[in-house]
Amino acid sequence: MHINKYFKQLNIEPIAEIDIREKCEFANRAAMVIVDKFYDLDYLKIVDIIQHTQMYTAKIPNNLSPVNYSYLDGILYISEKLELDINNEFVLHEVIHRLQEYRNKKNKLLQLGLCDILETSIKGLALNEAAVQYIVKKVLNGENEIVEVYGMKIPTISKNYYPILTNLIEQMIFAVGENILVDSTLNSNNEFKYSAIDLMGESTYYEIQNNFDKIMDVKNQILKNENQTNVKENIDLIKRIYIETQHKILTSYFNKELKAVKDINQLKVFGDKLLKYRNLIGSDEGQALYDEYYKEMLNKIQEKEFSFQNRALIVVKENKIINVFNRIKNYIQKVIFQN
Ligand SMILES: [Zn+2]
Repeated sequence: MHINKYFKQLNIEPIAEIDIREKCEFANRAAMVIVDKFYDLDYLKIVDIIQHTQMYTAKIPNNLSPVNYSYLDGILYISEKLELDINNEFVLHEVIHRLQEYRNKKNKLLQLGLCDILETSIKGLALNEAAVQYIVKKVLNGENEIVEVYGMKIPTISKNYYPILTNLIEQMIFAVGENILVDSTLNSNNEFKYSAIDLMGESTYYEIQNNFDKIMDVKNQILKNENQTNVKENIDLIKRIYIETQHKILTSYFNKELKAVKDINQLKVFGDKLLKYRNLIGSDEGQALYDEYYKEMLNKIQEKEFSFQNRALIVVKENKIINVFNRIKNYIQKVIFQN
């Protein structure tokens, strides 16, 4: 679509280009704030990209985000009502979109962080949105809190913007690691995807990626729907996909992890991790599924302990063996059977 026509459709009206001095100062501040939180990132590269991005103040209608980075013309549009301040959530979000833009020599857009732009389709858009929003909140020192979304209680770092997807990406980060997520999201490489595939399996990764996109699509349908038809069905659909995706991340990751456990110490680490994961689980139904899974895992942990015990009769100290199992058993009694 022709760029001017596109902006007319969105009703974004550019007012004036932002002064070069202001932009350079902003670029330095932005790089400082981002690298201060994630110090593996390249400060100079960030400054360079932001300095060479055209920025305009603009009239932006209320139904759009007050800051918009456009991939069509490579311009960052900022509402005239807003300061160019990197501590503003919307500004930072769009700056990250600018940083992750990856084009070939012919200027064709190929990748945006975790999102692949293919000839016929775009995959991973919602995964990328969640990753960007997670990074924004981390940079701005956000903290997790439990919010109510569609009647589900969900722990999330981003209560106003993509709360469900940000919770799910955090569950993936638990498995894959934050550094890899940040690197892949900002530098548009595939490390996050490859690591997630290693940890959860290839088909599972793509199912999760699709589910993220589905949640975002259905959410957009709810927002767009002026007649408010099918709203309940759509909300139920989001809930179902959320709970299913969460359980998929949990089970695929921990099933594979348990297989890799080689000794009693690793088993202890495994048990601790599984316990810790419960803090990320959203919705009562999700918690119930988690508890059921936990009970199943408890048997498997016990089996493993016995086999390690038999294999290393002399080496392993008995109190260590009893510790792992009892701690988990106590947890089960405390949390699950009291509910
Ligand atoms: Zn975005």
